[in-house]
Amino acid sequence: MALCSGNASLSDTQRSKTWLLRPRKRFSCYGRERGITAGLVVCFNLRSWCVLPLLKAATTEPFQGRVRLESLPGIGPYTAAAVASIAHGESIACVDGNVRRVMARQMANATPTTKQVQAWADAVLWTEDAGNWNQAVMELGATVCTPQKPQCGRCPIATSCEGASNPLRYPAPKVRAKKRLDLMCIVLLDTDGRPHLVQRGDDGILASMWGPEMAEHLDVASYEYVGEVHHVLSHRDLHVRIWKGSIEQGIDEGTVPLSSLDQKVLKRARG
Ligand code: SF4
Repeated sequence: MALCSGNASLSDTQRSKTWLLRPRKRFSCYGRERGITAGLVVCFNLRSWCVLPLLKAATTEPFQGRVRLESLPGIGPYTAAAVASIAHGESIACVDGNVRRVMARQMANATPTTKQVQAWADAVLWTEDAGNWNQAVMELGATVCTPQKPQCGRCPIATSCEGASNPLRYPAPKVRAKKRLDLMCIVLLDTDGRPHLVQRGDDGILASMWGPEMAEHLDVASYEYVGEVHHVLSHRDLHVRIWKGSIEQGIDEGTVPLSSLDQKVLKRARG
């Protein structure tokens, strides 16, 4: 796996690396002896709350590698890899959202896993100067291979890019898992099978709709359990367990607005 394809000449590759190494000046002129400046640059980019433990470690302890950094409060794998490579020259690849996007487009992989992105970043890492390489790849993602307007015409690694013909396909937007919500429902039916229905409040799911009593917690001790229905809303995955009981007089459900979930629930309660 290489950033530059077989079509690219050695000079192309060197030019790419020269371009990629532009951020070097920004960092090297601050001095890297103790790793403080580069560490702070990374941390201020992330938010200052993680500066203190990092600064303390940088000033009071000899550097003990990325793994030690990861054990500090507030330091995750990305920050640890960034500080270890940029400040201490450790040969380790950084992976952030920019790197993930570059990888997805380079490999034409719409749904790369974290493991695949890390494997790609490790494989293409320029081990002679991992810190500058990491900054360069992240900078490439932030300024050239941007989410909405990738500038493939001026990209130094375009020759190896398998997704350049349609970069906006990569990576695909993440599909958010629907949040599961467990509900309990008591359906009261009269002798004609007509339900007791109430109008719900103005907020929450199914707001203002009519239906049987439904909530996260109900006292169902005196009712008969009849089963469960599953219903998917745009952002919710509903699991409703149903109990039934009797009432003297229900209402005609055709006279009130009923959601499809409530219709399912009533059907299940009637058997
Ligand atoms: S060629 Fe285009 S899509 Fe591929 S890495 Fe460069 S900017 Fe991104």
